[in-house]
Amino acid sequence: MRMILLGPPGSGKGTQATVLMDRYGIPQISTGDLFRKNISEGTELGKKAESYTKSGQLVPDEVVLGMVADRLAQADCEDGYILDGFPRTVPQAEGLKELLAKRGASLDATVLIDVPDSDIIERLSSRRTCEACGAIYNTKTNPPPEDGVCASCGAKDSIVQRADDTAETIKQRLDVYHTSTSPLVEYYREAGLLMEVDGTRAPEKVTEAIAEALA
Ligand code: AMP
Repeated sequence: MRMILLGPPGSGKGTQATVLMDRYGIPQISTGDLFRKNISEGTELGKKAESYTKSGQLVPDEVVLGMVADRLAQADCEDGYILDGFPRTVPQAEGLKELLAKRGASLDATVLIDVPDSDIIERLSSRRTCEACGAIYNTKTNPPPEDGVCASCGAKDSIVQRADDTAETIKQRLDVYHTSTSPLVEYYREAGLLMEVDGTRAPEKVTEAIAEALA
């Protein structure tokens, strides 16, 4: 299965992708995680992306598309994948369509996780992320372990507040979402691929809603 998780930053795409990945036995491809990894390793790609990710702007389409093309060509993507945070613009969606067409493949579904802006600001300000494995915590609803050891990967002192989860950058990222990414809702609706779930419910309920929509 080849699917996209669409929704504003903090709507739960990463959390859902982790669960769905196990359930369907396909990898999660998070462009945000790929950029953060490249930035922390100081690669050329990381250098190109850093100023954009820091300020909550989108990395240019051609940079993103090049990175995604490389990732989707890897063997573990053969039977499908969950795209998390990509595509984020109509040109990226068009680029993805071309990439798939070249391989004689097509997309099965795009799931929109709906969450209002007021909830997003609250969620992102209290979000904490494991730098080692990407596991997501929340100081209010799912606090990080007190001993500082990530419950998911066992790394010590790796749970941090992401540099772009600050009030000013959150607002910027939401503006970017509404301007550049939300047109994808109509794009995939017109393509007959859109499914919508209410993302304000508990994570397990959202997972079940996604599984039902996919079935
Ligand atoms: P995320 O972890 O998905 O919230 O992404 C963090 C940041 O990485 C975004 O604010 C962008 O700067 C950059 N980024 C991630 N995915 C994309 C994408 N598909 N297109 C452009 N920039 C992206």
